[in-house]
Amino acid sequence: MSRDKRLYTFLFAPTSTSRMKKLSVPRSFVKAGAIVVLLGLAGAIYGAVRLMNVESINIKYQSAKTENEKLKRDNDVYKNSYAKLKGQISFIEDMSKDLARQANMEQVNETDQKVGSGGPETVTALDKAADSLEQQVRLIGDRLRADHLRLTSIPSGFPVQGYITDGFGMRRNPMGGGSHEFHDGIDLAVDFGTPVGATADGLVVWAAPYSGYGNLVAVFHSNGVTTRYGHLSRITVEPGQRIKRGEQIGYAGSTGRSTGPHVHYEIRLNDQPIDPSKYARQQ
Ligand SMILES: [Zn+2]
Repeated sequence: MSRDKRLYTFLFAPTSTSRMKKLSVPRSFVKAGAIVVLLGLAGAIYGAVRLMNVESINIKYQSAKTENEKLKRDNDVYKNSYAKLKGQISFIEDMSKDLARQANMEQVNETDQKVGSGGPETVTALDKAADSLEQQVRLIGDRLRADHLRLTSIPSGFPVQGYITDGFGMRRNPMGGGSHEFHDGIDLAVDFGTPVGATADGLVVWAAPYSGYGNLVAVFHSNGVTTRYGHLSRITVEPGQRIKRGEQIGYAGSTGRSTGPHVHYEIRLNDQPIDPSKYARQQ
């Protein structure tokens, strides 16, 4: 292949009045020049694109850095909250163990993971520990409520501070005549008008005169236990009323089959009279 010997001839005038000058350049020179110019242009474009890329990477880096710092701060907050929560759960764990002991609950479920002793290090484990603890505390609560109900609804003490004129069981007919009868309660002699209090928490199921009892108040407690307070001069409660131990139900009197002011006090278990003096000792 032979070299291109053709020329490009350029005509030009240095000034508007000067003569035309002629410049002949080999065609290959022009081509080479054009290539150089194109390469320069490509280089410049490449450089500009590179610069833009670097700038965009820089922007991305800065935003990632900001994001990372924010995450780090969030993580610190999270770590602190987690530690606090862990501490609280550990505290409640100790408290619930203590309460369980006081409630005589030996069989309380141990939590799977003890939070206090190094314990769970993940939120899931902490969550599980909290669930187990909640269940445990509920059990203790149920037990304590049941215990409280049981204790407060068992008759305790006497409805009045008086001396026992007649005990529970067979006795001579107090109305005279020499016959014997079964006395299904105890008689407590007191001054007329002495306030009479219920011996346990319960529900008033009778508050009206009732044959030989005179003015009678009957209170249902729980587990089939009922108490009766007879010969009252006045009743101060109504049927359906809930009352607490010690709460007044009326005043002592001598209504009904009675020979003088006293309170006939009776405890019935499933409607069978039992000896109230056995319960009185608990107080
Ligand atoms: Zn009696």
